Amino acid sequence: MSDALAPVGVFGGTFDPVHYGHLRSALELVEHLGLEHLRLMPCAQHPHAKTPMSPAAHRAAMVELAVRDEPRLRCDTRELQRSGTSYTVLSLEELRAELGERRPLCLVMGGDAIAHIHSWHRWEAFLELAHIVVLARPGWHIPGAGEVADWLRDHRLADAGGLTRAPAGGILVEALRPLAISSTEIRAMLARGESPRYLLPEQVLDYIQEHKLYS
Ligand code: ATP
Repeated sequence: MSDALAPVGVFGGTFDPVHYGHLRSALELVEHLGLEHLRLMPCAQHPHAKTPMSPAAHRAAMVELAVRDEPRLRCDTRELQRSGTSYTVLSLEELRAELGERRPLCLVMGGDAIAHIHSWHRWEAFLELAHIVVLARPGWHIPGAGEVADWLRDHRLADAGGLTRAPAGGILVEALRPLAISSTEIRAMLARGESPRYLLPEQVLDYIQEHKLYS
């Protein structure tokens, strides 16, 4: 164990805007899983976007502001620099090439996202490149039956120790402090003229107001 490398985590999302549900989960993951650091990675064009999103540059700027004072959290803008759809598998391939073969890499996904993973581009390749850490999220349940449920069962790790025993290939389900905050709700509050203060960092709210986002 002495020469085990601490895993690096990557947490993709729209972050439209980033809020304390993301940030608190990110920090708890760093501490519970012993991550070297965790990258919050805003997507450019979400492959399954339901609604129009704020420009990527604004979403990334808000993430940068939110993690500015926490060195264990970083903003990774690689998907904004790539043209076209933000396919997670491409980011994992790039990260694997940068981190080398031995470093454990953990792709963090919300429980809501994992339920639809079989519709993601080349999803079967994810576990060749990284582990997957599924966040149990308020109001969402891990699939109990079907293709995704079988895949979860086949690769499920018993505990976080499994993340350092191999660079990729395991699935860990983590229940963290539940914070029922969503970007959708924050956007709706702003559209109604209500304040989302204390649901997201003050500097992010200042940025939203300065740039007149979501009003
Ligand atoms: P939206 O309401 O626009 O769908 P969101 O709040 O779900 O946004 P995303 O940027 O889509 O935020 O989320 C990125 C990732 O963070 C997803 O995997 C999502 O499940 C997870 N996530 C979002 N909010 C929370 C929360 N409160 N607790 C735990 N995980 C969260």
